[in-house]
Amino acid sequence: MGQSRSIIAGLVASILLSSLALVDAGEAAAARKIARPRPKPSPPAKCEMPRFRIVVDVGHTPDSYGALSARNDPEFGFNFRLARLITAKLKSEGFAEARLLVTDGKARPSLFKRISAANQGRTDLFLSVHHDSVPDKLLETWEFDGAKSYFSDRFSGHSLFVSRQNPHFATSLMLARMIGRQLKEQGLRYASQYTLPVMGRYRRQLLDKDVGVYRYDGLIVLSRTRSAAVLLEAGSIINRDEEMELNSAERHEAVAGAVAAAMREFCETR
Ligand SMILES: [Zn+2]
Repeated sequence: MGQSRSIIAGLVASILLSSLALVDAGEAAAARKIARPRPKPSPPAKCEMPRFRIVVDVGHTPDSYGALSARNDPEFGFNFRLARLITAKLKSEGFAEARLLVTDGKARPSLFKRISAANQGRTDLFLSVHHDSVPDKLLETWEFDGAKSYFSDRFSGHSLFVSRQNPHFATSLMLARMIGRQLKEQGLRYASQYTLPVMGRYRRQLLDKDVGVYRYDGLIVLSRTRSAAVLLEAGSIINRDEEMELNSAERHEAVAGAVAAAMREFCETR
């Protein structure tokens, strides 16, 4: 674990773009209270694959790493590995302008800087890549590697989020559904617990019950981006079995392939 962390830190250091950070699920409520001027919408996205600009955002930063997995690995590393693969897959399939956005620093002071990075220049889709956990009250304890650790095997699966406050909400929803449909075709099941009372303040409205697209209006990275924006929780790293799957090449391929297939489908229908 320590070694893989330092490899990731090295990789990240070489491609850091700025000291930015993503709002945490836990920080979203506070972030909602910050006054927000409406983002200026960029023109609606048309799609020519070589020119279509997808920013693949690595959720969180090395300093503010998001959730901790059942085996005590930080979410940031999971996000980084998967987002890098998605970017490579998109490029190899003809989306030459796809780029990886990696940010560093503490989450709070740099919250809105991430958005300005996303809004610099022309972006057609902002895709934020995350991995899921559960509310603290659902955590159970076990011993891993000689240390007291936390897990919850109760829920699993990926989920997709869009914001009605995004200036391209309809396009964002369409893209999220296409990604969701492709993930379903890969045999993956979405996380259905976000509609349940047990999720408390993380409870969300399910916009597409077939493929698992939820509404998350207040999330800064979705509401403040000028381009269409989708957040993908690729799976639950607090679930002990799914954490292992999320480390596998098969799962990486399935998710990256699903995103690329969805983007191709989107371009073909424009
Ligand atoms: Zn996250």
